[in-house]
Amino acid sequence: MLVFNKIKELEELISLEKQKGRTIGFVPTMGALHLGHISLIETSKKQTDITICSIFVNPNQFNNSSDLLHYPRTPENDIKLLDEAGCTILYMPEIKDVYPEKDVRVFNFGFLDSILEGAHRPGHFNGVGQVVSILLDGIKPNKAFFGSKDYQQVLVVKSLVKQLGLLTEIIACPILRESDGLAMSSRNVRLNEQERLEAAAIPEMMKLGNQILKLYGIAEAKKYILSVVATIPNMKLEYYEVCDAETLGILTEFSPKQKAVSLIAVFVGNIRLIDNWMVN
Ligand code: AMP
Repeated sequence: MLVFNKIKELEELISLEKQKGRTIGFVPTMGALHLGHISLIETSKKQTDITICSIFVNPNQFNNSSDLLHYPRTPENDIKLLDEAGCTILYMPEIKDVYPEKDVRVFNFGFLDSILEGAHRPGHFNGVGQVVSILLDGIKPNKAFFGSKDYQQVLVVKSLVKQLGLLTEIIACPILRESDGLAMSSRNVRLNEQERLEAAAIPEMMKLGNQILKLYGIAEAKKYILSVVATIPNMKLEYYEVCDAETLGILTEFSPKQKAVSLIAVFVGNIRLIDNWMVN
């Protein structure tokens, strides 16, 4: 695997490869890699000739400075995992390479930025828009692969690509989970033993919540989720919503004709975790 720290040098290589007719797949990450990230690399390898992964903890998308400070960083292990997975190129820049100047651009993601993650993490999606637009502009991949774990982010990135008229196809990939169902996340390593056990309740309540909402409606499912969270000592609910799977419009009634997804954000101790499950 080739490792680049400078986008200019990487751009030269990419343009040579493109001249040879090779297609480029891109997997942007913030590092502390796990098998969820690696599954994106594997999908990219199947669909494109050259897979480029980036590792960059983007300060502009953190609305909480403590979260940024404590974000796990495991560069040596990341390089090993990517190498073993057969990733072709790793781009691992310093902040100055991504942001030679302060990025003051403001994107308009409309309704998408006003709900769920947008509502609870002000400025987060703008920061995502900034970094993703810079990375896509430099790498110009044919396809970029994002995890459905960050369901709303996929819709934001699709909107960004449309607004900027970029040619990259955005591919949403399935969520990888631990054996007890907890969605893999770089933040899971920050849970202590007790919190990790408690976090296993998240996928359980989401699955049962989906069954309840299909049988008794969304209001009952919300009551159920609140009641479960209330019994778990270190857990605090930030939101639980059932949304239209395409627009993320918040639903109050479930209809089997409409594709729906339930989404949750909880704190387990100080660690904020998100998850989502398709309803139908
Ligand atoms: P992050 O490093 O957390 O910014 O994530 C980088 C990419 O990996 C994003 O597109 C995430 O949605 C994706 N990702 C994170 N966790 C998972 C997971 N458990 N399964 C699939 N994709 C994931």
